[in-house]
Amino acid sequence: MKPSPPAIEQPMYHDHSLVFLKKQQVHVPCEACKKSIGGPSYSCLECHVYFHLDCVHLSKEVNHPCHPSHPLKVVASESLADNQDAEKSCCFCGVQQEKMMYHCSICNFTVCFGCTKKPPPLAIEDAKTHKHPLRIFSNKITFTCNICGIKGYKDMIPYICFACNFIVHRKCIGLPQIININRHDHRISFTHHLGRRGTKCGVCRRYVSQYYGAYFCSVCPDYTQFTHGVHVIIMYGMVSNWKGYLKRAKILLLLRWWDIT
Ligand SMILES: [Zn+2]
Ligand SMILES: [Zn+2]
Ligand SMILES: [Zn+2]
Ligand SMILES: [Zn+2]
Ligand SMILES: [Zn+2]
Ligand SMILES: [Zn+2]
Ligand SMILES: [Zn+2]
Ligand SMILES: [Zn+2]
Repeated sequence: MKPSPPAIEQPMYHDHSLVFLKKQQVHVPCEACKKSIGGPSYSCLECHVYFHLDCVHLSKEVNHPCHPSHPLKVVASESLADNQDAEKSCCFCGVQQEKMMYHCSICNFTVCFGCTKKPPPLAIEDAKTHKHPLRIFSNKITFTCNICGIKGYKDMIPYICFACNFIVHRKCIGLPQIININRHDHRISFTHHLGRRGTKCGVCRRYVSQYYGAYFCSVCPDYTQFTHGVHVIIMYGMVSNWKGYLKRAKILLLLRWWDIT
C-alpha cells in the first residue's frame, strides 16, 4: 500500500485542506460515504469532518469508466427512495443499504461508493468461460445468463460477447471446471450445455434446463448439479480479493452451502 501523504492541500470533496490522522476517531462518519470510520482518516481541523483514506480522493461528481456518457453525482439514498422510479441499488453489485450513492439522473444509473472506488473491469478474458473477451454492458436489461440459465440477478449488469450473443452474470465468469462435493462420490465437471432433457438437480431436485450450463458426473450419467449452488458461494467468496484465497473459499463455501441445503 502507498503511504498516505500527511496532508491533502486541495481535496476534491471539501473546500479546506485535510490532514492525515493516524489515530482512530470514535464513531465519526465519513463526510463522503457517511459510513463510520474504523481506522486512520483525513480530517479538516476547522470543520471537524473526517474522510476514509480511500474516500478522500473521490469528488461529488465523478466520471465513472463504466458510464462514460454523463458524470455521476453523489446523492443521499433517501432522496432516491423518495423517487419511486429511481434505481436504488448499485447497478454493479446490487447493494442498496448504503447512505450515499452515485447517480446519473439522466439515465437512472446508480453506483455504490465501493464500485466507484474500484470499478468493475470493462472486459474480462477467461477462455474457459468464453473464447472471446467479455465486455461489460452498462445498461439495465433483462437477460438469461448463458452459464447458469438464471434471469438477470437483481438487475445486475451483464458481460457480453456481441459476436456470439453470449451474455453472462459477472459472477458466472470463471466458474471452476471441476469440483468435489461431499454429496457425491465422484468429481463433477462443468458443461456449457447440458443437452439432456428432463434432468433434475442432484442436490435440490429442481428442474435443470438442457440449454444452459450445469455440473455433471461423467461416471454416473444421470447425475446433474445445477450451477445455482455455485452462485451462492461466489457471492460469499468475493469478500476476499487475494486470488489464491478466493479460489479456495469458493470450494469450501460450496461444500458448506450444500451441507445445509
Ligand atoms: Zn467514506
Ligand atoms: Zn473544512
Ligand atoms: Zn456496487
Ligand atoms: Zn447517464
Ligand atoms: Zn449466471
Ligand atoms: Zn464470442
Ligand atoms: Zn439444486
Ligand atoms: Zn458420479
